[in-house]
Amino acid sequence: MSRDGELSGRISLVTGASRGIGHAIARRLARDGATVVCVARNAERLEEAVASLRKDGLTAEALPLDIRDEDAVRSGVEQTLARHTRIDHLINNAGITRDGLLLRMKTDDWKTVLETNLTGMFFLTRAVLSAMVRARSGRIVNLSSVVARSGNPGQSNYCASKAAIEGFTRSLALEIASRGITVNAVAPGFINTDMTAGLDDKARQAMTGRIPLRRLGEPDDVAGAVRFLVGKEASYITGTTLNVNGGMHL
Ligand code: NAP
Repeated sequence: MSRDGELSGRISLVTGASRGIGHAIARRLARDGATVVCVARNAERLEEAVASLRKDGLTAEALPLDIRDEDAVRSGVEQTLARHTRIDHLINNAGITRDGLLLRMKTDDWKTVLETNLTGMFFLTRAVLSAMVRARSGRIVNLSSVVARSGNPGQSNYCASKAAIEGFTRSLALEIASRGITVNAVAPGFINTDMTAGLDDKARQAMTGRIPLRRLGEPDDVAGAVRFLVGKEASYITGTTLNVNGGMHL
Protein backbone atom coordinates (compact mmCIF):
# COMPACT_ATOMS: atom_id res chain seq x y z
CA MET A 1 0.00 0.00 0.00
CA SER A 2 1.51 3.31 -0.98
CA ARG A 3 1.03 6.31 1.28
CA ASP A 4 0.51 9.93 0.49
CA GLY A 5 3.35 12.06 1.69
CA GLU A 6 6.31 14.06 0.52
CA LEU A 7 8.30 10.86 -0.09
CA SER A 8 5.55 9.08 -1.99
CA GLY A 9 7.03 7.25 -5.01
CA ARG A 10 10.56 7.47 -3.60
CA ILE A 11 12.73 4.42 -3.10
CA SER A 12 14.92 4.44 0.02
CA LEU A 13 17.61 1.84 0.61
CA VAL A 14 18.47 1.63 4.32
CA THR A 15 21.29 -0.59 5.60
CA GLY A 16 21.10 -2.05 9.09
CA ALA A 17 17.33 -1.70 8.99
CA SER A 18 16.48 -4.81 11.02
CA ARG A 19 16.74 -3.05 14.38
CA GLY A 20 17.82 0.05 16.29
CA ILE A 21 18.40 3.30 14.45
CA GLY A 22 18.15 1.76 10.96
CA HIS A 23 14.74 0.32 11.69
CA ALA A 24 13.53 3.68 13.03
CA ILE A 25 14.83 5.39 9.87
CA ALA A 26 13.08 2.87 7.62
CA ARG A 27 9.82 3.39 9.50
CA ARG A 28 10.16 7.19 9.41
CA LEU A 29 10.79 7.34 5.65
CA ALA A 30 8.04 4.80 4.92
CA ARG A 31 5.60 6.79 7.05
CA ASP A 32 6.08 9.70 4.66
CA GLY A 33 5.38 7.51 1.65
CA ALA A 34 8.73 6.01 0.63
CA THR A 35 9.16 2.38 -0.33
CA VAL A 36 11.97 1.18 1.90
CA VAL A 37 14.40 -1.52 0.87
CA CYS A 38 15.84 -2.89 4.11
CA VAL A 39 19.31 -4.44 4.31
CA ALA A 40 20.87 -6.59 7.06
CA ARG A 41 22.66 -9.95 7.30
CA ASN A 42 20.28 -11.97 9.46
CA ALA A 43 17.49 -12.73 6.95
CA GLU A 44 15.02 -14.02 9.52
CA ARG A 45 15.28 -10.97 11.76
CA LEU A 46 15.13 -8.71 8.72
CA GLU A 47 11.93 -10.38 7.51
CA GLU A 48 10.39 -9.84 10.95
CA ALA A 49 11.36 -6.15 10.85
CA VAL A 50 9.89 -5.75 7.37
CA ALA A 51 6.72 -7.60 8.44
CA SER A 52 6.30 -5.16 11.35
CA LEU A 53 6.45 -2.22 8.93
CA ARG A 54 3.98 -3.86 6.56
CA LYS A 55 1.63 -4.64 9.43
CA ASP A 56 1.39 -0.88 9.95
CA GLY A 57 0.47 -0.33 6.29
CA LEU A 58 3.96 0.76 5.21
CA THR A 59 5.72 -0.35 2.02
CA ALA A 60 8.90 -2.25 2.77
CA GLU A 61 10.93 -5.12 1.42
CA ALA A 62 13.89 -7.14 2.64
CA LEU A 63 17.25 -7.35 0.90
CA PRO A 64 19.36 -9.63 3.07
CA LEU A 65 23.08 -9.23 2.43
CA ASP A 66 26.41 -8.56 4.10
CA ILE A 67 27.59 -5.09 3.11
CA ARG A 68 31.20 -6.31 3.31
CA ASP A 69 30.54 -8.59 0.34
CA GLU A 70 31.22 -6.53 -2.78
CA ASP A 71 29.48 -8.94 -5.19
CA ALA A 72 26.42 -9.32 -2.98
CA VAL A 73 26.12 -5.53 -2.72
CA ARG A 74 26.44 -5.09 -6.48
CA SER A 75 23.83 -7.73 -7.28
CA GLY A 76 21.50 -6.54 -4.50
CA VAL A 77 21.56 -3.01 -5.89
CA GLU A 78 21.08 -4.30 -9.47
CA GLN A 79 18.11 -6.35 -8.28
CA THR A 80 16.61 -3.29 -6.57
CA LEU A 81 17.09 -1.12 -9.65
CA ALA A 82 15.59 -3.82 -11.90
CA ARG A 83 12.54 -3.89 -9.65
CA HIS A 84 12.07 -0.18 -8.97
CA THR A 85 14.17 1.52 -11.74
CA ARG A 86 15.49 4.05 -9.21
CA ILE A 87 17.01 4.52 -5.78
CA ASP A 88 16.36 8.02 -4.46
CA HIS A 89 17.85 7.71 -0.97
CA LEU A 90 20.76 5.67 0.29
CA ILE A 91 21.06 5.58 4.06
CA ASN A 92 24.37 4.00 5.05
CA ASN A 93 23.46 3.10 8.61
CA ALA A 94 24.79 -0.43 9.24
CA GLY A 95 27.67 -0.33 11.69
CA ILE A 96 29.33 -2.39 14.40
CA THR A 97 31.72 -2.01 17.33
CA ARG A 98 34.52 -4.35 18.46
CA ASP A 99 35.92 -2.43 21.42
CA GLY A 100 39.33 -2.89 23.02
CA LEU A 101 42.42 -0.97 24.00
CA LEU A 102 44.79 -0.59 21.06
CA LEU A 103 47.70 -2.40 22.73
CA ARG A 104 45.58 -5.54 22.85
CA MET A 105 43.43 -5.01 19.79
CA LYS A 106 43.18 -8.04 17.56
CA THR A 107 43.81 -7.46 13.86
CA ASP A 108 40.48 -9.10 13.16
CA ASP A 109 38.64 -6.57 15.36
CA TRP A 110 40.34 -3.72 13.52
CA LYS A 111 39.55 -5.17 10.09
CA THR A 112 35.95 -6.19 10.79
CA VAL A 113 35.02 -2.72 12.02
CA LEU A 114 36.71 -0.92 9.12
CA GLU A 115 35.35 -3.38 6.55
CA THR A 116 31.79 -3.02 7.84
CA ASN A 117 31.54 0.65 8.76
CA LEU A 118 33.73 2.12 6.04
CA THR A 119 34.32 -0.30 3.16
CA GLY A 120 30.73 -1.55 3.27
CA MET A 121 29.52 2.04 2.97
CA PHE A 122 31.89 2.53 0.01
CA PHE A 123 30.57 -0.61 -1.77
CA LEU A 124 26.95 0.50 -1.34
CA THR A 125 27.56 4.09 -2.34
CA ARG A 126 29.54 3.19 -5.45
CA ALA A 127 26.91 0.65 -6.50
CA VAL A 128 24.04 3.14 -6.15
CA LEU A 129 25.77 6.21 -7.50
CA SER A 130 25.55 5.68 -11.26
CA ALA A 131 21.76 5.38 -11.10
CA MET A 132 21.61 8.61 -9.06
CA VAL A 133 23.94 10.36 -11.51
CA ARG A 134 21.75 9.27 -14.43
CA ALA A 135 18.68 10.55 -12.59
CA ARG A 136 20.54 13.75 -11.70
CA SER A 137 19.14 13.53 -8.20
CA GLY A 138 19.63 11.59 -5.01
CA ARG A 139 20.25 11.84 -1.30
CA ILE A 140 22.95 9.96 0.55
CA VAL A 141 23.09 10.01 4.36
CA ASN A 142 25.93 8.29 6.22
CA LEU A 143 25.80 7.43 9.92
CA SER A 144 28.81 8.72 11.80
CA SER A 145 29.05 9.08 15.58
CA VAL A 146 29.83 11.71 18.21
CA VAL A 147 33.08 9.82 18.89
CA ALA A 148 34.35 10.59 15.37
CA ARG A 149 35.30 13.97 16.79
CA SER A 150 35.49 13.48 20.55
CA GLY A 151 37.43 10.19 20.40
CA ASN A 152 36.75 7.41 22.92
CA PRO A 153 39.27 5.22 24.70
CA GLY A 154 38.81 1.58 23.67
CA GLN A 155 37.22 2.52 20.36
CA SER A 156 40.16 3.49 18.13
CA ASN A 157 38.92 1.20 15.35
CA TYR A 158 35.34 2.49 15.55
CA CYS A 159 36.39 6.16 15.86
CA ALA A 160 38.76 5.79 12.90
CA SER A 161 35.94 4.36 10.80
CA LYS A 162 33.52 7.12 11.78
CA ALA A 163 36.02 9.97 11.27
CA ALA A 164 36.76 8.50 7.84
CA ILE A 165 33.05 8.47 7.04
CA GLU A 166 32.88 12.22 7.67
CA GLY A 167 35.85 12.86 5.35
CA PHE A 168 34.30 10.58 2.73
CA THR A 169 31.02 12.47 3.06
CA ARG A 170 32.65 15.87 2.43
CA SER A 171 34.69 14.63 -0.54
CA LEU A 172 31.83 12.86 -2.24
CA ALA A 173 29.55 15.85 -1.63
CA LEU A 174 31.97 18.02 -3.61
CA GLU A 175 32.42 15.36 -6.29
CA ILE A 176 28.75 14.95 -7.12
CA ALA A 177 27.07 18.22 -6.16
CA SER A 178 26.87 19.24 -9.82
CA ARG A 179 24.74 16.14 -10.48
CA GLY A 180 22.03 17.23 -8.07
CA ILE A 181 23.00 14.70 -5.40
CA THR A 182 23.55 15.68 -1.76
CA VAL A 183 25.72 13.73 0.67
CA ASN A 184 25.53 14.36 4.40
CA ALA A 185 26.36 12.61 7.64
CA VAL A 186 24.43 12.31 10.89
CA ALA A 187 26.48 11.90 14.07
CA PRO A 188 24.41 10.45 16.93
CA GLY A 189 25.48 10.62 20.55
CA PHE A 190 24.51 7.74 22.86
CA ILE A 191 21.29 6.21 21.59
CA ASN A 192 19.18 3.49 23.23
CA THR A 193 19.77 0.47 20.95
CA ASP A 194 21.36 -3.00 21.10
CA MET A 195 24.71 -1.26 20.54
CA THR A 196 24.48 0.50 23.92
CA ALA A 197 22.42 -2.18 25.71
CA GLY A 198 25.58 -3.56 27.34
CA LEU A 199 25.98 -0.47 29.55
CA ASP A 200 25.13 -1.19 33.18
CA ASP A 201 23.02 1.25 35.25
CA LYS A 202 26.06 2.99 36.70
CA ALA A 203 27.63 3.59 33.28
CA ARG A 204 24.25 4.71 31.95
CA GLN A 205 23.86 7.23 34.76
CA ALA A 206 27.40 8.52 34.26
CA MET A 207 26.70 8.85 30.56
CA THR A 208 23.44 10.72 31.16
CA GLY A 209 25.30 13.12 33.45
CA ARG A 210 27.54 14.08 30.52
CA ILE A 211 24.58 14.91 28.29
CA PRO A 212 23.27 18.49 28.66
CA LEU A 213 19.74 17.40 27.63
CA ARG A 214 19.95 14.80 30.45
CA ARG A 215 18.80 11.70 28.57
CA LEU A 216 20.11 9.13 26.15
CA GLY A 217 18.81 9.59 22.62
CA GLU A 218 16.16 7.39 21.06
CA PRO A 219 16.34 5.89 17.55
CA ASP A 220 13.50 8.23 16.51
CA ASP A 221 15.66 11.26 17.39
CA VAL A 222 18.15 10.12 14.75
CA ALA A 223 15.48 9.06 12.27
CA GLY A 224 14.03 12.59 12.35
CA ALA A 225 17.39 14.07 11.35
CA VAL A 226 17.75 11.62 8.46
CA ARG A 227 14.20 12.37 7.36
CA PHE A 228 15.05 16.08 7.30
CA LEU A 229 18.17 15.50 5.19
CA VAL A 230 16.33 13.52 2.50
CA GLY A 231 13.46 16.03 2.34
CA LYS A 232 12.82 19.09 0.18
CA GLU A 233 13.77 21.48 2.96
CA ALA A 234 17.34 20.16 2.99
CA SER A 235 17.92 20.55 -0.75
CA TYR A 236 20.65 23.20 -0.25
CA ILE A 237 22.53 21.25 2.44
CA THR A 238 25.45 19.06 1.40
CA GLY A 239 28.74 17.89 2.89
CA THR A 240 27.66 18.58 6.44
CA THR A 241 27.54 16.47 9.59
CA LEU A 242 24.43 16.95 11.69
CA ASN A 243 25.00 16.23 15.40
CA VAL A 244 22.17 14.45 17.22
CA ASN A 245 23.78 14.12 20.63
CA GLY A 246 21.80 16.10 23.23
CA GLY A 247 24.63 18.63 23.34
CA MET A 248 27.25 16.20 24.67
CA HIS A 249 29.88 17.34 22.16
CA LEU A 250 29.67 20.55 20.17
P1 NAP B 1 22.50 -1.97 16.09
O1 NAP B 1 21.28 -1.85 16.92
O2 NAP B 1 23.63 -2.81 16.58
O3 NAP B 1 22.06 -2.47 14.62
C1 NAP B 1 23.03 -2.64 13.61
C2 NAP B 1 22.32 -2.98 12.30
O4 NAP B 1 23.33 -3.15 11.27
C3 NAP B 1 21.58 -4.30 12.37
O5 NAP B 1 20.43 -4.20 11.53
C4 NAP B 1 22.57 -5.29 11.79
O6 NAP B 1 21.90 -6.45 11.31
C5 NAP B 1 23.19 -4.44 10.68
N1 NAP B 1 24.53 -4.89 10.24
C6 NAP B 1 25.64 -5.05 11.01
N2 NAP B 1 26.65 -5.50 10.26
C7 NAP B 1 26.17 -5.63 8.99
C8 NAP B 1 26.74 -6.08 7.76
N3 NAP B 1 28.01 -6.48 7.69
N4 NAP B 1 25.97 -6.10 6.65
C9 NAP B 1 24.67 -5.69 6.72
N5 NAP B 1 24.08 -5.25 7.84
C10 NAP B 1 24.82 -5.23 8.97
O7 NAP B 1 23.14 -0.53 15.79
P2 NAP B 1 22.53 0.94 16.06
O8 NAP B 1 22.85 1.29 17.46
O9 NAP B 1 21.15 1.04 15.55
O10 NAP B 1 23.52 1.81 15.14
C11 NAP B 1 23.20 2.16 13.80
C12 NAP B 1 24.28 3.12 13.29
O11 NAP B 1 24.38 4.26 14.13
C13 NAP B 1 25.68 2.50 13.27
O12 NAP B 1 26.40 2.95 12.14
C14 NAP B 1 26.31 3.03 14.54
O13 NAP B 1 27.72 3.06 14.45
C15 NAP B 1 25.70 4.42 14.59
N6 NAP B 1 25.69 4.98 15.94
C16 NAP B 1 25.03 4.37 16.97
C17 NAP B 1 25.05 4.95 18.23
C18 NAP B 1 24.34 4.34 19.41
O14 NAP B 1 24.50 4.86 20.52
N7 NAP B 1 23.54 3.30 19.25
C19 NAP B 1 25.79 6.12 18.45
C20 NAP B 1 26.45 6.71 17.39
C21 NAP B 1 26.40 6.13 16.15
P3 NAP B 1 22.66 -7.89 11.18
O15 NAP B 1 23.44 -8.06 12.44
O16 NAP B 1 21.57 -8.88 10.96
O17 NAP B 1 23.53 -7.76 9.97
